[in-house]
Amino acid sequence: MKDIRIIIVGAGIGGLAAGLALQRRGFKVALYERAAEIRDIGAGVIITANARKALHNLGVDEKLAEISSCVDAMKTCKYDTGEAYRVVSNSDIFEKYGMKTLQVHRADLHRLLMEAVKANDPEALHAGHQFIELEQDDTGVEVRFQNGAVDRGDILIGADGNASAIRSQLFPGEATSFNGQVAFRALIPSELVPQKVLDVEYAMHPGPKRYLMHYPLRGGSIMNLIGCGQSDTWQEEGWAIPAQNDEFYAAYSDFAPHLKELITKIPEGNLFKWGLRDREPLDTWTSGRVSMLGDAAHPMTPFLGQGACLALEDALLVGRAFEASSDPLEALARYEAARKERGNGVQLLSRQEGQSLQTPKKVQKPAIDRGLLAYDPVTVAV
Ligand SMILES: Cc1cc2nc3c(=O)[nH]c(=O)nc-3n(C[C@H](O)[C@H](O)[C@H](O)COP(=O)(O)OP(=O)(O)OC[C@H]3O[C@@H](n4cnc5c(N)ncnc54)[C@H](O)[C@@H]3O)c2cc1C
Repeated sequence: MKDIRIIIVGAGIGGLAAGLALQRRGFKVALYERAAEIRDIGAGVIITANARKALHNLGVDEKLAEISSCVDAMKTCKYDTGEAYRVVSNSDIFEKYGMKTLQVHRADLHRLLMEAVKANDPEALHAGHQFIELEQDDTGVEVRFQNGAVDRGDILIGADGNASAIRSQLFPGEATSFNGQVAFRALIPSELVPQKVLDVEYAMHPGPKRYLMHYPLRGGSIMNLIGCGQSDTWQEEGWAIPAQNDEFYAAYSDFAPHLKELITKIPEGNLFKWGLRDREPLDTWTSGRVSMLGDAAHPMTPFLGQGACLALEDALLVGRAFEASSDPLEALARYEAARKERGNGVQLLSRQEGQSLQTPKKVQKPAIDRGLLAYDPVTVAV
């Protein structure tokens, strides 16, 4: 079993973590990424106890905690005044789940995973390889890339994100659709951030049809700002469509003054927007020798802040499933059986939470209230 060839397409957070989980269990992996340079975007991501347990098992949690932020409290505030009406203490989270919630720069998490994969096998990563098609038979799966390269493995794992080409090939006719939400994201150096925002540190502001959220990254040297709201306008695919501060400000003009001031402080070139996409959950993530993980398997809206966390959980369960199995097809079956309910379930819950976050009078039910942080990918049965 240890001499099988495992191909992973997509070297995002989920793909790299799966590669690492497999390598640490003695498997050789080949990871293919379409980008010419393998790196992540400049944005924040919240990593909760459930995912930190996976990262700890992968040997990268300690280093990540050293370079991330870890606020004392996470607040939910009125959108028009900034007054906090709910405060969750990170020490309480530690008491309950054994690990605090981290606020992480995506590029830092991505780099740590990539360095660990490369340290295990300098030949594992192949940038500039855009997957275009696959063909499988009883003995293996052939994977073809736009640059003309072809590889053949025993197993293929699609970790190619929300608009997964592998998912489209396995389950044709099932496309992503714009879900009526446009998001803005910006990173703002702390010296430009209004004092009131610095004092609050971490706050979610549910407003009418929109919400704004900010939290610090890299030990407080950067403030991450996210706005997400309903819109009729279609946006192009991708996370990096440049946007203007005026446009962001106008869309949130009824939010509290210190939040609007924060928007005016976004440095030129640091504001991006994108249209959120959604897909329906699948009955199965696997077809023959091909399975999927992360957003490819269960594309997640951002409303519970769990998409990357679930990709990390999936990744560890891929590694554990292969370790526990005596043949590759058994491994994929074990992986899917262990993960499908959780992945598809959180996908639907996240969609539901989007409604509450954009209706101030509704009660929000974040990931912690839904018990999602209690999941332990290291001990769950596989
Ligand atoms: C506004 C917002 C805020 C979020 N906040 C959080 C949060 O706080 N906490 C959290 O847990 N999650 C959060 N998420 C969700 C999280 O970012 C995603 O769920 C996560 O990145 C999924 O990881 P992935 O590895 O599955 O996919 P991705 O990170 O999308 O990686 C996919 C990789 O595949 C590559 N690829 C794509 N197509 C091909 C191809 N054809 N061939 C080869 N390579 C290909 C891509 O270039 C990319 O590198 C947020 C999302 C949004 C939109």
